Amino acid sequence: MPTVLGLEGSANKVGAGVVRDGVILSNRRATYVTPPGHGFAPGPTGRHHRGAVLGLVAAALSDAGTRPRDLDAVAFTRGPGMGAPLAVVAVVARTLAQLWGVPLVGVNHCVGHIEMGRLLGRAPDPLVLYVSGGNTQISNDPSPGYNIEQLAKSGHRLLDLPYVVKGLDVSFAGLLSHLQAITPKVLATGEATPEDLCFSLQETAFAMLTEVTERAMALTRARHLLLVGGVACNLRLQEMLQDMCRARGAELCPTDHRFCVDNGAMIAQAGWEMLRAGQVTELDQSGITQRFRTDEVEVTWRD
Ligand code: MG
Repeated sequence: MPTVLGLEGSANKVGAGVVRDGVILSNRRATYVTPPGHGFAPGPTGRHHRGAVLGLVAAALSDAGTRPRDLDAVAFTRGPGMGAPLAVVAVVARTLAQLWGVPLVGVNHCVGHIEMGRLLGRAPDPLVLYVSGGNTQISNDPSPGYNIEQLAKSGHRLLDLPYVVKGLDVSFAGLLSHLQAITPKVLATGEATPEDLCFSLQETAFAMLTEVTERAMALTRARHLLLVGGVACNLRLQEMLQDMCRARGAELCPTDHRFCVDNGAMIAQAGWEMLRAGQVTELDQSGITQRFRTDEVEVTWRD
């Protein structure tokens, strides 16, 4: 029964989790929280992770009732993400793997999100929509996406915002700039409230995602849709996709918020799959990479 420790630290969250044969034994996480209005810069985020990671590893092993000698591999996020935080976690992963004499498995962060979704969703061959807001920075009190979601619940007026869809591609470029440009005027004239602005932003962005996802489902004849990534927690997005799936006779796989947000267990789960397929990472190949596309990963663990 392979048991894998997974370490994540590509952005403002650092996590350690243990997975054994499809069972999540533990999942500890710490978040670097910045003052309202400030994003997280690589340097301070890396320092935060450096201070937190060893405690998280100890807690994850303890929660799982696992000793280092029970582990079969240490998986870690190789990228994509921010350099300093990725490097902190990679150094810890390399050190622990050598100390404990187990293989190292370098995981693509996005593949981690998808594999965790596949573990929880249990659909045989789902279409995957991966929605992440890592670079969306509006306010950080407590989190930009969450604030928009809450305010949007009281919004009613749908403003005309840039809607850019081409085939299966979407572009959000210009959406925020457009909102920033019209905000002073629509608030001053009473044409819209802050709630309306949040409502319009969400409805527009999520309608774009729902449109391309429906097109992809029609093309692939998928019967199941798996929603992963941090934004998968958004209830309005879930509702829109649920309506679309229902209309097509398809099924939206349930999403568990504990495992949508960046976490160590998802890296452990992807690492477990890779270990099973013999895909381990040699020490001299274990460098981090800030730009690491999902389609650069050769998926040898699935048919
Ligand atoms: Mg993520």
